[in-house]
Amino acid sequence: MEQSTFEKLGIQTSVLGFGCMRLPVKDGEIDRDAAFDMVDYAYKNGITYFDTAWPYHHQTSEPFMGEALKRYPRESFYLATKCPVWLCKTPEDFERIFNEQLSRLQTDYFDFYLMHSMTKERFDNAEKIGIYDLIRKKQAEGKIRYVGFSFHDKLPVFQEMLDKHSWDFVQIQYNYIDPYLLDADKLYDELEKRNIPCIVMEPLRGGFLSNLPEKFTKIFTDYDPNRSVSSWGLRWVASHKNVKVVLSGMSNMEQLKDNMSTFSQPFALNPQEEQVVEKVVEAIKAVDTVPCTGCAYCMPCPFGVNIPKVFSIYNNYKMFQFAHKTKDEYFNQLEAEHRADLCRNCKKCMQACPQHIQIPDLLKAADTEIRQVTTNL
Ligand code: SF4
Ligand code: SF4
Repeated sequence: MEQSTFEKLGIQTSVLGFGCMRLPVKDGEIDRDAAFDMVDYAYKNGITYFDTAWPYHHQTSEPFMGEALKRYPRESFYLATKCPVWLCKTPEDFERIFNEQLSRLQTDYFDFYLMHSMTKERFDNAEKIGIYDLIRKKQAEGKIRYVGFSFHDKLPVFQEMLDKHSWDFVQIQYNYIDPYLLDADKLYDELEKRNIPCIVMEPLRGGFLSNLPEKFTKIFTDYDPNRSVSSWGLRWVASHKNVKVVLSGMSNMEQLKDNMSTFSQPFALNPQEEQVVEKVVEAIKAVDTVPCTGCAYCMPCPFGVNIPKVFSIYNNYKMFQFAHKTKDEYFNQLEAEHRADLCRNCKKCMQACPQHIQIPDLLKAADTEIRQVTTNL
């Protein structure tokens, strides 16, 4: 397993990190036998970075990982978990949750501790309660080694967080398609400029980049039929020199072994391979999608439709044609009261849209197409 050096922190970890948010599941719960096998295989073959969080698997990921990892010497791996800042309304809440996390994970300390899934609203609330100072206090007590945050908002909020406090590392979403859909390149550049180690989540965009339609997959396999489609996405991310750990939320042994083989040898893309990825990106960008930037100027809709979210799900479908994932995004992750079928064609949103999108018409098209392609799944 290739290793990564955090020069700033003076440590080495495996480049591939084991994300514990998509462990194998049976009857709605973590499939313990299968998950134990995966953790054991990962550990015994050189993965030293394990990433969990309070809410993963309905709060059962942390207790499970506590059980799985206690069988190994504590100093032989790096353990990352996250503060659910949205549950911390007072300093006492933080204290209670932090102690519960230590107990769930059966440890005296966390190597990496993150403020979880930060947005402007969450950061402002965390600042009011003083969560950053509380976390640094835990670090001074030896209960945390490195302090960071994971992020899901726009560049100005990112810069505000970086300006306001010092951070030992930061975790962002990054993959070869996000620079065109999100601010991902700008976030990465900001970390590199400030010499803050970067940990990457969603290198395969929640599975979209592992399940590409045949016309995109073919570009990769024509160049090298022996490499998996996923390996291209992982290698693209890891080729960035300030990316220290690439997290992958693996759900079965096959995925784990494929990802581990990607990082069991030098992985940086050569110039020809970079061009292959660029070709795939251009092909994906050429797909006819709704030109929604996610700015949310059209919100709120008086009838509750989450317009940017619907268009994001629809665009994902149009680009990646991954119907199972679309079904999950539209019918599980998006509540019924925010779906496109609630649009009453009042046109209020259209006056606010800088892209001049025919919002009601396209919402109707999105809802119809998504229902058609997911009906029999
Ligand atoms: S046209 Fe539809 S989406 Fe737009 S504001 Fe009216 S109900 Fe909401
Ligand atoms: S205002 Fe237009 S571009 Fe912005 S989120 Fe709404 S539909 Fe998308």
